[in-house]
Amino acid sequence: MPPRKSELTPHCQKVLELLTRSAKPMPAYDILESLRKFGIKAPPTVYRALDTLMEKGLVHRIESINAFVACHGEHHDDAGHQHSHANTGFAVCRECGTTVEIHDHRLCDVIAELGKKLHFHVEREMLELMGLCESCHAKQTVGHA
Ligand SMILES: [Zn+2]
Ligand SMILES: [Zn+2]
Repeated sequence: MPPRKSELTPHCQKVLELLTRSAKPMPAYDILESLRKFGIKAPPTVYRALDTLMEKGLVHRIESINAFVACHGEHHDDAGHQHSHANTGFAVCRECGTTVEIHDHRLCDVIAELGKKLHFHVEREMLELMGLCESCHAKQTVGHA
């Protein structure tokens, strides 16, 4: 069953709240800075909270920019969901940092197929798309016109 917020430790709840309110992925350093005012000052405490949240699938790490986002996906509502990153990806705007979580079951099929073809046992699937969001792309086009 998906974890409920009430099952989280107060530290985890604070970190999750912070990430949920943030429009952009947050690097660990920014998370630490923002939690100072709540009296959470020890980096290991924050890292432990992040680990727990990632294990529960409530927070994802975007490896290419080394930052954390709260999960906005639907996948935790499905009963019996495994909280894996399978068929999850991210599209990250390199200008404003807006991040969209991608859920597409077709990705799963493609990766499974690839694994078979390569005789490779896939353990983790990360898809991170870098580029420009709609509004940043529009701004750039205007700037260059
Ligand atoms: Zn997610
Ligand atoms: Zn943007």
